[in-house]
Amino acid sequence: MGILSEKLSSVKPSQTKAMTERAASLRAEGKQVITLSQGEPDFQTPDRICQAAIEAIRAGHTKYTAVAGIQSLRKAVIAKFQRENSLNFTLDQVTVGCGAKQLLFNALLASLDEGDEVVFPTPCWVSYPEIVKLAGGVPAPVETRVENGFIMTPDDLRSAITDKTKWLMLNSPSNPTGAVYSREDLEDLAAVLRDYPDVWVLSDDIYEHLVYGDTEFCTMAEIAPDLASRTLTVNGVSKSYAMTGWRVGYAGGPAELIKAMNTVQGQSTSHTCSIAQHAAVAALNGDQSFIREFRDAFKKRRDQVVGLLNQIPGLSCKAPDGAFYVFAECQGLLGTRAPSGKVLATDMDFALYLMEEAGVAVVPGSGFLADGFIRISYASSEEELANACAAISNAVSRLSRTQGAA
Ligand code: PMP
Ligand code: GLU
Repeated sequence: MGILSEKLSSVKPSQTKAMTERAASLRAEGKQVITLSQGEPDFQTPDRICQAAIEAIRAGHTKYTAVAGIQSLRKAVIAKFQRENSLNFTLDQVTVGCGAKQLLFNALLASLDEGDEVVFPTPCWVSYPEIVKLAGGVPAPVETRVENGFIMTPDDLRSAITDKTKWLMLNSPSNPTGAVYSREDLEDLAAVLRDYPDVWVLSDDIYEHLVYGDTEFCTMAEIAPDLASRTLTVNGVSKSYAMTGWRVGYAGGPAELIKAMNTVQGQSTSHTCSIAQHAAVAALNGDQSFIREFRDAFKKRRDQVVGLLNQIPGLSCKAPDGAFYVFAECQGLLGTRAPSGKVLATDMDFALYLMEEAGVAVVPGSGFLADGFIRISYASSEEELANACAAISNAVSRLSRTQGAA
């Protein structure tokens, strides 16, 4: 009998992490690799936030904190939800953890019984199905289509709900597609959810501030206040404030669920780092003008990458409305042969070819439950993006058609 549990045997390692680590080990061998695999802003955390952390250390805020986070941070979270989302929470309705990722984990571990189903649209973030499985649940992915802008329709949702459905997990702007659910899209989904009073909504708003098109960001609890008593709103400082490594995420929802999430956290990580919590207070409470600067820079990079990728025969993508990823179709390149003689049968083969031959790390669409795509994070400098696209173009031009390939 092996050491690993049956549960773990069905859980896959994170593809975003795997591709990024593979790139790092190639770099350690002296190869040049541009990493566009992991979604994290290349900007430095703004200085005033770093200063708040330094002051926290000097002031001796280096001890355990409350499981749900220091009061000043929970108050900053309450103020943020009120200011930006018109959501009103009390202190026992918000909690802070080690990134939004841990809050998703805490929420599902606190609420799923063996066999409970979690519905989410695909393409989805690599971690959704795996967190559901780790928490004992069953992923219920709902395929969305390029033609619909990767938006889940009310009919899609209705047909996915069974008497085992516990949650609908929604992520807008979406990782990996960049799709943004409009107010009307959310209202249509809310109308379906009203027919299923036992289904909860987990709204993952981590890319809230990264919206480029005309669609304004909305979140479910705001547009459907009658569903707020069964909605958990998750967010964090990683993407908006260039603070991925600080590990601070937060959530607001019904006190009973938040209390249970705190029980999970109190028996696992206890809380996130005390110093990072003080930095997050500064992030949420202080001047927010750099958010706009970050967003403007991302929009420029998005247009640059979409323009360059669409010039490469066999790759195509639309300009995504939000987040900082381009989800490009590469179906036309599958079945081609690399100069080594290897046939690129899957998007994983293609991604590995780009890593080896172009020196560019991307994530295959299959990691997001959507075969025939690659995801490129454009949260890198314009120079790196230009070099990466040129290298991809060059590598693609060296592929040859195999006999019988389209
Ligand atoms: N949700 C989505 C959709 C993400 O892409 C990420 C990636 N960072 C997270 C949640 C988690 O973010 P973090 O743990 O850094 O707050
Ligand atoms: N969420 C980011 C991504 O999808 C960061 C890596 C991760 O946590 O998966 O690339």
